[in-house]
Amino acid sequence: MSTSNAPLLKVENLGKSFGGVKAVDGISFELHAGELLALIGPNGAGKSTTFNMVNGQLKADQGSILFDGHELVGRKPRDIWRRGVGRTFQIAETFASLTVAENVQMALLSHDGKLFSMWRRAADHKRDEALALLDQVGMKSQADRPCSVLAYGDVKRVELAIAMANAPKLLLMDEPTAGMAPKERNSLMALTKDLVIQRGMAVLFTEHSMDVVFAYADRMIVLARGRLIAQGKPLEIRDHPKVQEVYFGSGKTFEKKAAAIGETA
Ligand code: ADP
Ligand code: MG
Repeated sequence: MSTSNAPLLKVENLGKSFGGVKAVDGISFELHAGELLALIGPNGAGKSTTFNMVNGQLKADQGSILFDGHELVGRKPRDIWRRGVGRTFQIAETFASLTVAENVQMALLSHDGKLFSMWRRAADHKRDEALALLDQVGMKSQADRPCSVLAYGDVKRVELAIAMANAPKLLLMDEPTAGMAPKERNSLMALTKDLVIQRGMAVLFTEHSMDVVFAYADRMIVLARGRLIAQGKPLEIRDHPKVQEVYFGSGKTFEKKAAAIGETA
């Protein structure tokens, strides 16, 4: 990873209020291609609000989000997606009866801007491409099974393949491993890290398990009450007094907290 080049994402003084609550209060950070950046902080810190401003679901009240040199604030989600900002979605119930491959084929068609109705007439369309993506996430052998019968961790892999169908330059993952067992969690993040390395993609993710964050994040930013209180490499963050105090409460160490939530969060 090179940090000497221009950042892929440059967030400056970004803010959003809900009523009187400053959910995100003037935060600034950068993200480079090929970097896995963890956004951490206690519940209500403003992590999801930050994600939703970057993907266009929410409009920022203040600040700037430069992506690849283009301002994203004020753009529609679809426009932002088309520019190469992807996010993982849960496979909707209506698509669970489709096979693994069909779900990815549909995402590929959508990326090409084809109408949904095309799908009915083109069951084999993009199948090879879909299989190649499924191979990358270790799901090729299950391509013809319906998503509804998959194990939870495997569904998450398919969701990742679906997100990759848009060939994003930046992938946003808000709590990607929620509800997963520690082993599945590690496996999904290892896979994500591989994709980052292979494709030079950037990833911004939130994660509760500190084990996972320390094992996979290249860098971390820490939010508390909408403010960015620290950023740096995992080891720097772990020893940061402000993080220890604000994020974990006085008297607790990062290690103790990580041990306490590591296997259960
Ligand atoms: P996190 O993802 O870090 O848990 P959020 O970004 O979801 O935090 O929330 C940050 C703050 O903004 C919280 O106080 C939350 O209650 C508030 N908030 C988030 N979304 C909304 C909304 N749509 N309407 C009102 N308040 C919201
Ligand atoms: Mg959240």
